[in-house]
Amino acid sequence: MILARFRCSATTSFGQVSSNCQNNGHTAALDPSGGPVRSGPMRFLCDEMLAPLARLLRAAGYDTYLASDGEPDAGLLKIAREEGRILLTRDKRLAAAAAESVLIEGRGVDAEAESLSRGVVLDWGFAPFTRCVVDNARLREASLDEIDRMPESAQAKAGPFRACPACGRLYWPGSHVRRIGERLNGLTNGAPMPPQA
Ligand SMILES: [Zn+2]
Repeated sequence: MILARFRCSATTSFGQVSSNCQNNGHTAALDPSGGPVRSGPMRFLCDEMLAPLARLLRAAGYDTYLASDGEPDAGLLKIAREEGRILLTRDKRLAAAAAESVLIEGRGVDAEAESLSRGVVLDWGFAPFTRCVVDNARLREASLDEIDRMPESAQAKAGPFRACPACGRLYWPGSHVRRIGERLNGLTNGAPMPPQA
């Protein structure tokens, strides 16, 4: 197991020191000054400007909170601290105020994802399509009735067939899922190698 202080930023423009540790989508973090200790998969909090990045992280299987429009910074910092979430934002001041943050740069979800990959080493193929991209709920296996409601072309495939217990959305192997999967594969292939444990 890797134990290290975890604070990261895509830039060092305001003096943050990067010391990232990650292993197959899991990280263990210890702040020697007495900060939060986390083990298990990384969890994220995206500010409201990063909704597409939040959906991509959820598609990759990461537990990702997306801030609502106008949600106060103090509330976001509290959630990030209490739930051990890495705060992702374009706002330097907000990033600096969080114990764990990545300052996101670039425009468009691909550039944002690459910016995140420069701040933390994460596995974009961690657990694809296991969370609802809309509300972050963990998906369950679809029932036979739910599979019956999916397009016939999808039903002919091997699956997986999943459903969101929160909003009822159904997920099946189709063009939308394939496109997102290709995007995740592209990010995985372009990501830096994880550190050797
Ligand atoms: Zn849902």
